[in-house]
Amino acid sequence: ENPYVGLVSRLRAAWLSGRTRSLEYRMAQLEALGRFLEEKKQDILEATALDMRKATQLDSAFIRKDPYGVVLIIGPWNYPIYLLLVPLIGAIAAGNCVIIKPSELTKNSEKLMEEVLPQYLDKDCFAVVTAGVEETTRLLENKFDYIFFTGDSPSGGRIIMTAAAKHLTPVTLELGGKNPCYVSDTCDVQNVARRVAWGRFFNAGQTCIAPDYVLCSVEMQEKLMPALREAITEFYGSEPRNSPDFARIVGDEQFKRVQALLSSGRVAIGGQTDEKERYIAPTVLVDVKPSHPAMQEEIFGPILLIITVANMDEAIDFINSRERPLVIYAFSSDNKVVNQVLERTSSGGFCGNDTLMHVTLTSLPFGGIGSSGLGMCHGQFTFDTFTHHRGCLQRGTGLEPINTLRYPPYSTHKMGL
Ligand code: NAD
Repeated sequence: ENPYVGLVSRLRAAWLSGRTRSLEYRMAQLEALGRFLEEKKQDILEATALDMRKATQLDSAFIRKDPYGVVLIIGPWNYPIYLLLVPLIGAIAAGNCVIIKPSELTKNSEKLMEEVLPQYLDKDCFAVVTAGVEETTRLLENKFDYIFFTGDSPSGGRIIMTAAAKHLTPVTLELGGKNPCYVSDTCDVQNVARRVAWGRFFNAGQTCIAPDYVLCSVEMQEKLMPALREAITEFYGSEPRNSPDFARIVGDEQFKRVQALLSSGRVAIGGQTDEKERYIAPTVLVDVKPSHPAMQEEIFGPILLIITVANMDEAIDFINSRERPLVIYAFSSDNKVVNQVLERTSSGGFCGNDTLMHVTLTSLPFGGIGSSGLGMCHGQFTFDTFTHHRGCLQRGTGLEPINTLRYPPYSTHKMGL
C-alpha cells in the first residue's frame, strides 16, 4: 500500500468540505503563517544557516514581459479558425514566432489557413503546418518554447504534455469534458429551456462549453420537457433537418460515435438521425444513469441528458464526484442557490442563469482546471499566457560598503542576532 494514501485522502476530504474557501479562513491561516515567521524567526535563521550557510535579503524589483520564443499552436475542428486566431493574436502581441497547426478534419479552413493567412504575415516568423496525427507527432518532437493546445480531453492533453515534458516546454491545454447544468425548482422554466437549448444545440452541440447534462428534480424534469420541446421548435422549426441554423456533425467517425450515445436512457425529444447527411436531430435523453455510455464521455453532439437528483446538495455531490468540468451552469431565480453551486464546486469557468455567454467577455479568463485543461486565454490573459514574466533586479554600482553585510564571513553581529 502506498504510504501517502491516507494523508492525501484526508486532505481531499477537507478540500471537499469547502472550509479552505472562506476569506476569514484564508486570512486566519495566513496570519498563523505570519506568526510562525515572526515567532520562530530565530529558529528559521539558525536552520537555514546550518543547512545552507546562507541568509537572504529582499530588494526592489521590476517585471519585464518577455515573449517565450518559438511557440506552437494546435487547433481543433469545432471552431477551426476562431480557436487558432484567439491564441495567435496573443502570441503575436506578446512578440513570439508562431507555428500554427490547424485540425486536419476541417479541410477548407485548413487550406485557407495554409494558403492565405501567410500572405498577410511575416513568413520568417509565422508558419502554418498542415498535419495529421503522424506528422503532428513528428512536429512535437521538436523543441518549442511554448505549446498552446486546444483539443480532446484527456487523451490529447496527455499526448501534448508528454511531448512537452521532454523539452520542459510550458503548455496551455484547452480541453473539454462534461459540463453540468443544475436547474433548481425555482426558476422561469421557459427561459431556462431556451437558454439551455441554445447552448446545447448551437453548432449541433460541437462546442466545448456546451451544457452536457442537466441535473434537476423529477418535478422540474416534467416541467422542462414541454418547455425544451417548445424552445427547439421555436429555434429550428418542426423539422430541424430543414433549418439553415442547425449544423451537421463534422465527420462520419464522429457521427457514429454520437449516434451510439442515443441508446443511453430513453429518447424524450428528437432522436432522428440520417447518416448520409451526418444529421442528428436536437435530442433530449431522460432516465440517464451515471453508468450509461453517454455519461462516460463528452457528448460533443446535439444530445442533452437529464439526470434527476433529489436536491441541490445531491447535484453538488454529483458534480464533485466527477472530473472538474470546463464550466458549470446553475439556474435559479434565487441567487443564493446559484452562489451555493458556485462556492461549493470547482470548474474552469462558471455561468449563472445562462449558457455560453461567459466566453464572450474578454475581461474574463477562459480555461479549464484538472482534466478540462490548464492555463487560460482571452484578452489580456492570452497575452500573459504567451509572455514570460521575467523578474529583474538592477542595481547601481556604488554603495559597496552596504553590501559587506551580506558577504561572508557571517558573524552573529552582522546577522543582527
Ligand atoms: P483532437 O484532440 O482530436 O484534435 C485537436 C488537434 O490535435 C488537431 O489539430 C489534431 O490534428 C491534433 N491531434 C489529434 N491527435 C493527436 C495526436 N495523437 N498527436 C498529436 N496531435 C494530435 O480534438 P478535436 O476532436 O479536434 O476537438 C474536440 C475537442 O476539443 C473536444 O474535447 C472539445 O471539448 C475540445 N475543445 C476545447 C476547447 C477549449 O477552449 N477548452 C475549445 C474547443 C474544443
